[in-house]
Amino acid sequence: MKITYSIVAPVYNEIDNIPELYRRIKEVMDSSGESWEFILVDDGSTDGSTERIRELARKDSTVRPVIFARNFGHQVAITAGWDYARGDAIIIIDADLQDPPETILELAKKWKEGYEVVYAVRAEREGESWFKKFTAALFYRLIYRITDVKIPVDTGDFRLMDRKVVNVLKQMRERHRFPRGMSAWVGFRQTGVEYKRAARYAGVTKYPFKKMLRLALNAITGFSYFPLQVATYFGFFAAGIAILAIPIVAYMRVTGWQAFYGQATTLIAVLFLGGVQLISLGILGEYIGRLYDEAKGRPLYIIREAPEEE
Ligand code: UDP
Ligand code: MG
Repeated sequence: MKITYSIVAPVYNEIDNIPELYRRIKEVMDSSGESWEFILVDDGSTDGSTERIRELARKDSTVRPVIFARNFGHQVAITAGWDYARGDAIIIIDADLQDPPETILELAKKWKEGYEVVYAVRAEREGESWFKKFTAALFYRLIYRITDVKIPVDTGDFRLMDRKVVNVLKQMRERHRFPRGMSAWVGFRQTGVEYKRAARYAGVTKYPFKKMLRLALNAITGFSYFPLQVATYFGFFAAGIAILAIPIVAYMRVTGWQAFYGQATTLIAVLFLGGVQLISLGILGEYIGRLYDEAKGRPLYIIREAPEEE
């Protein structure tokens, strides 16, 4: 059977969202008049979401469950969705109904006009704390400035991608992933559609500050060497100051004009440079740890239950 749309939703403890998500997706997709499948990737839920997903799949064969052996994280769940999707267009959508399913039809319209990546741009965000909005805005702009790929600001993972694009993404098996960066990196014809990001339908966010920080680090280290170069710039700066200071201090000494009194100055200089060196080491460590993970070459995720192939 030929499938036009694959809707992929990563699910981590979203038990109260699943029935409503399914209902709204079904309504929208049935109205499109084209064939579709709904891939629910269960990312190690512990609240009974798994059973809810299985139930749906028993009743409706358009629902295809991909069930992980444990929690692997949102980005990896998206990857599993790419791997199992069979449609000509693949749509990634959050399971908490923050991304309105109705927007899918607008994304599809652009796809039919010939765009291969259609990302949804958050024009407005509802029901999120000022801290989340502020850090998100800062994050998108920072990433835009320091990375080599131009990742459009204020876009999340909610997007439609053509089969051609997903086939390329499937070959990118990097471990610490930033899917929206990867989908910007591949090129193709891309465009955005604005939408209003709704509040969560039920439950609470599964992105505590720690996870957001990790995602930000993955984005930066995955698409830029900037943090590594900072150490070089700083080294030149500190060495430059030293070179300038040597003749000045020597001159002061010779002429007997003493402006510096030993200890405090020395201590500050040592602490400061020591701090900078340790930070640089830590940055190196971030990259080396990632290298080590890649070298191990473990599978990205472990499947407990894969959907049946017809
Ligand atoms: N999610 C996931 N694994 C995780 C964390 C989140 O699959 O480890 C899913 C979650 O169920 C939701 C989507 O990723 O469908 C986005 O998460 P959330 O809504 O909590 O993030 P926020 O919208 O608050 O940034
Ligand atoms: Mg959400």
